[in-house]
Amino acid sequence: MSEEPVVNLLLVDDREENLVALRAILEPLGENLISARSGEEALRALLHEDFACILLDVQMPGLDGFDTADLIKQRERSKSIPIIFLTAISKEEQHVFRGYSAGAVDYLFKPFDPQVLRSKVAVFIDLHRKTAELRRQGELLRERDVTEERRVSEDRYRQLADAMPQIVWAADREGCATYYNRRWYEYTGQSVESAGEAGWKLAVHPDDLPAAVARRAETLASGDVYEFEYRFRASDGTYRWHLARAVPIRGAGGAIDFWIGTATDIHDHKRTQQAQRFLLETGELLGTSLDYLDTLEAVTRAAVPAIADWAAVHIVDEGQLRQVALAHVDAQKIVFAEELQQRYPPNEQSAITQVIRTGRSQLASEVTDAMLRQGTVDELHYELTRELGLESFLCVPLSVPDRVLGTIMLGTAESGRRYDETDLLFAEELGRRAATAIENARLYQVADERAQASRVLESVADGVVLVDNEGIVRLWNPAAARITGFRLEDVIGRPIVEVVPGWEQLALRIPVADDPGTGRAETTPVELGGRELWISGSGVELDEGVVYAFRDLTEERALEQMRSDFVATVSHELRTPLAAIYGAALTILRPDLELDEELHDHLLQVIADESDRLASIVEDLLVASHLDSGKVRFAITDCDPADLVTGVVGAAGIHVPDNVQLVVHVEPDLPRVRADANQLRQVIGNLVDNAVKYSPDGGEVRVAATANGGSVRFSVSDSGLGIPASEQRRIFEKFYRLDPNMTRGIGGTGLGLYISSELVRRFDGRIWVDSREGEGSTFHVELPTASQSQRKRTPVAS
Ligand code: ADP
Repeated sequence: MSEEPVVNLLLVDDREENLVALRAILEPLGENLISARSGEEALRALLHEDFACILLDVQMPGLDGFDTADLIKQRERSKSIPIIFLTAISKEEQHVFRGYSAGAVDYLFKPFDPQVLRSKVAVFIDLHRKTAELRRQGELLRERDVTEERRVSEDRYRQLADAMPQIVWAADREGCATYYNRRWYEYTGQSVESAGEAGWKLAVHPDDLPAAVARRAETLASGDVYEFEYRFRASDGTYRWHLARAVPIRGAGGAIDFWIGTATDIHDHKRTQQAQRFLLETGELLGTSLDYLDTLEAVTRAAVPAIADWAAVHIVDEGQLRQVALAHVDAQKIVFAEELQQRYPPNEQSAITQVIRTGRSQLASEVTDAMLRQGTVDELHYELTRELGLESFLCVPLSVPDRVLGTIMLGTAESGRRYDETDLLFAEELGRRAATAIENARLYQVADERAQASRVLESVADGVVLVDNEGIVRLWNPAAARITGFRLEDVIGRPIVEVVPGWEQLALRIPVADDPGTGRAETTPVELGGRELWISGSGVELDEGVVYAFRDLTEERALEQMRSDFVATVSHELRTPLAAIYGAALTILRPDLELDEELHDHLLQVIADESDRLASIVEDLLVASHLDSGKVRFAITDCDPADLVTGVVGAAGIHVPDNVQLVVHVEPDLPRVRADANQLRQVIGNLVDNAVKYSPDGGEVRVAATANGGSVRFSVSDSGLGIPASEQRRIFEKFYRLDPNMTRGIGGTGLGLYISSELVRRFDGRIWVDSREGEGSTFHVELPTASQSQRKRTPVAS
């Protein structure tokens, strides 16, 4: 028994001698005796120690034995400790009863038999010991149960962890792995032995490892949850993205006991994310540029290495397959791949050709040797292709709704990445977007060309008109509107036969070619809106109708007409005096004719006069041409109008026919005018000549000079043929002459009035005509006076 622990006994008595006596009696039991001198002291002792038995004196000052026992019984910790009451006085039954009801197990009266007391106490000690033993055994049993339970539950967790599709591991507080679940071994192909505590480091992709290790060190120090994305190597050597997460498990004290980690396969999610990001980035590229070749190159550059180790784009351009973009992670391989491409362009068997023909994608998750053999034409081709180290590839069409524009090919080599159906879907989307971008760029180009063409059409001087196959006007450029006088808004969308009267006949005269550039233009007169026009037009037949192009040649035509009229007139004008000269000369020279002196002189006079006429015609031609080229020189001086009129009329008087009377009226004291005297004489002389010439029936020709404010007006009036109002402006044009029917065939060059008006303009004056057909004409020349023109000086020469 000596190995058994000593138990406590509490002795409570207010009297020291009693305590001494009790100690003496109980000492032989060999237990630990603790004395208390009052109820309070006993209660205090009970707070700290456990007791096998209490010996409690009943009569005590303050708390007596019963009160103390009551309090002991109220406390959970002490309520089951046996109490033996000791008393010297209260032997009455009432007291004894009170003692038992207060929880006493015994009631002993003093003086007590030491033997009896000791044996009674010994019983309680024994009971205490047994109870303690029982409790200890109970605890042991419970502990064993708990351990077993924990083992079972750990086993269950392990089974659960093994059954999970996720990778699960546990690590000690330093982060060294203590457990991996089955999935880990399955996925990595590691064995329990090879995995060890750092097996994870062998599986993480070398590119991701440094960052993963750094993050782990951080979380081990901080105790935060560890979260990281990295690629884990699978047993077949490929890598898949995982999200690793480890949480610290803390003990009761709050310190980290161990870590539980999981790794979830987020590969597909990650790839989709990457693909989406790539699509987003390339979407921007594809959307912003209109140069699709540049764009496709940018796309292939972005694809490598984001989603491929190499990427190539082929386009069907005018029936020819052309590689337009190529990118490779290894720049050296680009040269190699290009050479390969040149040496062995895609043939009927190549994926590219097949994808273009069928419009369906091709995917080879794993490029096998058999595939390489099948896809190559000879040993060299096979060897070179093998050199590329192609592991996996896919080829998708660049398709728009009605056709395939080309292909995008993505391949992997160095990265060990394998394409799957998800990648294919993504690449197909890329293909669709790229195709749309190409189509947009092409449409834009067409639209741009059209816009340019339409700008050209807007600005060309030729009228361009499109009449569709139903005869409706679809295009009417500004020149067409200007030439025809029909406004765009009045003709567009309307049948041409309604818009242009007589279109049917006109269309017959305009040649229409089948091919652009082969047509020839036809010049034809047209009557449009009451105007006679000369139009040179041609047409080209297109799918959408006929395009007519035409130009207005009315003016050229009129000029042409005028020139030929002029040539005829001048020839005629020259021939008449020449014939007279020739006739006169021949007559003089005739040997058989004896000419009297008078006739001889007359003939010589004819020669002299007609030569003079010839000279004046030639002079007119020369002056007109000098005026055109700006070679006419002026000597502007102050001229006296009266002198001038007198001189001109005097000279003219010599030739005036008998039926014409020249009348002069010059206002006295006229101011001088500024002009070149010779040229002004030529102007007035010409007007007088015309007045005489166009009065075939004779009559009065009046030459007047009058003051008119700051100018002097010269007027030459006749009562001759007169000039229709519609022609009065035009007679001042070069070579313009009235219809010979109107002038009874009177000859002339059409230069006189032109020269006159040009000269007067240079003297800062003006010239015009008042006339009525058949009632004669009055030509006016108004010139500034010398004092007037000095105020407004003009150059003296032009
Ligand atoms: P031309 O040498 O033909 O006379 P002009 O320039 O002097 O050339 O005159 C142009 C045209 O004007 C003439 O052809 C004629 O028809 C008309 N004309 C000029 N002066 C007169 C006039 N006094 N009376 C009637 N017609 C005239």
